[in-house]
Formats: sequence, structure tokens, C-alpha cells
Amino acid sequence: MIDSLIKKNIPSTEDSFKYYYNTDKNNYGVNSITSEIIAIFKGTEMVSEVEDSNQCILVTDKTNFYSNAGGQISDIGVISNQDLTFKVENVSSYHGYVFHHGLLTKGKLTCNSIVNMDVEKEHRLSCSQNHTATHIMNSVLRKLLPYAAQRSSHVCPSYLKFSFSAKAQLTDEELEKIETLVNQTIQKKLCVLRKEFSFEELLIQPNAVLLRGEEYPEVVSVIFIGELDCNEAVSIEPCCGTHVHNTADIESFVLIPSKSQDATLENSNVSLDVHLDLLKQIKATLKECHIKTDAPLRDLKEFETLFERYEDEIK
Ligand SMILES: [Zn+2]
Repeated sequence: MIDSLIKKNIPSTEDSFKYYYNTDKNNYGVNSITSEIIAIFKGTEMVSEVEDSNQCILVTDKTNFYSNAGGQISDIGVISNQDLTFKVENVSSYHGYVFHHGLLTKGKLTCNSIVNMDVEKEHRLSCSQNHTATHIMNSVLRKLLPYAAQRSSHVCPSYLKFSFSAKAQLTDEELEKIETLVNQTIQKKLCVLRKEFSFEELLIQPNAVLLRGEEYPEVVSVIFIGELDCNEAVSIEPCCGTHVHNTADIESFVLIPSKSQDATLENSNVSLDVHLDLLKQIKATLKECHIKTDAPLRDLKEFETLFERYEDEIK
């Protein structure tokens, strides 16, 4: 696909629009944009048009969709105009081109059509909440366990998963402390800011979190939590992901240790699953149970189902 795009001299996708969004709870959303379809693929074959009900891949001249990167899963949403509706299910990016994978549910797609790009806001907000929470947790861990090193993270709408290596398995007290400190940081209503840095400049910042073995570009996008100041910020991490604009937008944080802790005395891989919305859902279910006193058995069943769902996800 990349070769076909390069042969046709198609310029790379302008994707800075993914960072234009509000995280104010009453007005949350990613700004919609208008773009031109510049390439369509069916499988790996470049085509000039696609009919109704077909799975295909679109490249537009610009996009506001976030593609899978930095452990955060991509946006979903809709690309449409009065004649067509294309449901975006996944977004990937290679060599500067952004590929929107999805299903044409209405009309006909043709190259050079002008379309509206609408990112699903709830999905994006949840990913942004979980991504900022990942940075906060990383900073808390570094303070509590200076030798802990992040291995990987996975950020999706319903949870974040954070894996790191530590010298020993965490105790219940340590886990509780991490959860408390993360929640305290959230409640401080700290601003979350993005700033471009040259990698060389970032290397000399003592508090910046850099992943071992990771290759960074010459200019990196850095997320600051608290202050736009390398000595005062709570967290400084190079990151291409999307974030809330204030820690208060995360609302709450629940930490669940993974069942698959692999502990050895020297080096244990500890994985933590953090379900930000679990607490909210439990609270909502409890409230419903309380209100619907005429149907206690059914509500109890709902509660069990909720826990089973999370238990399955953790496995
Ligand atoms: Zn990040």
C-alpha cells in the first residue's frame, strides 16, 4: 500500500488535528474537520471507488483520528457526506500515511470526494482519561519504587494495563498506597500540557521518563502534568497519545493487580490492570439496586455479571 501511495506522489497525511479537542465535561469532543479522500484500498489493492457494504481502507489528505500508537488504541468514528457513510473501526499509520479501516455502510466511495471526519467522543475521552492516568501511575511508581521500570502499557476505553519490572512482588500496602497517591493527584486538578522538545534537550532533563530501548524522533512531543516546568512538574513523559487537559477529568482510579504476577526474588514482572470506570459502574449499579427495591434478585444478578465481565478481562 505504501509503495502505491509513493508511486502516485501522494503526500503524507496531515494529522495534527487529532490534538484539537476539548476535555471540558460539558463540551467534550474532538473538533470535526473536512477532508478529501485521496486513496481507497480494498485489501492491499488501490481502487478508485467502492460500493455499499464493503470493508475498505481510506486515506485522506488530513485527519483528526488518532491511530494506534504509544500503547493507546486508535479512535473510532464516522467519515461521511450527504451521499456516503463510512464507519471507522480502526486507524493505523505507516510512513506518515494514516489509514482508516472500516465499513462503507451507505453510498459509494470515490477518490477526491470531500468528507466530514467525526471522531467518537466517548471512546476518545475514555482513552484520554486512561492515558493520563497511566502517566500519573508511572510517576507515583517511580517515587515509591525508584528501581521499577516500565515495560509496556495498553490504553483502551475501559481500562489501562501497565507492566513494569520490580525487584519483588508488590505488597497489599504498596498497592493501596499507589492507588491513594494516584487519586490524590487526580483530585489536585492539575493541568496537563503538551510541548515539543528536541530529543537532546529532553535527555538532560533529570525528571523526564524515557523508556529503555525505545527509539525517539529528533523532535518529541512531551506531556507535562502539573507545571510546564521540568523541575516542578509531577510527570514529564515523551508521548504521542491523547490526554485530558486537567487531571480532574479522570474522575477516579481503581487499581487491580494482575493475577499473572510472575515473581522471582531478583526481577519480577508485575502487571497492573487499572479500571477507571469500574468504580463508577459499581456505584451506578449500587444506586440502581437501592432504587429498585422491588427487584432485588435481578439487580444482584446484574452485579454478578459486572464482576464476571471484569474478571474475564483481567484473565
Ligand atoms: Zn503516554
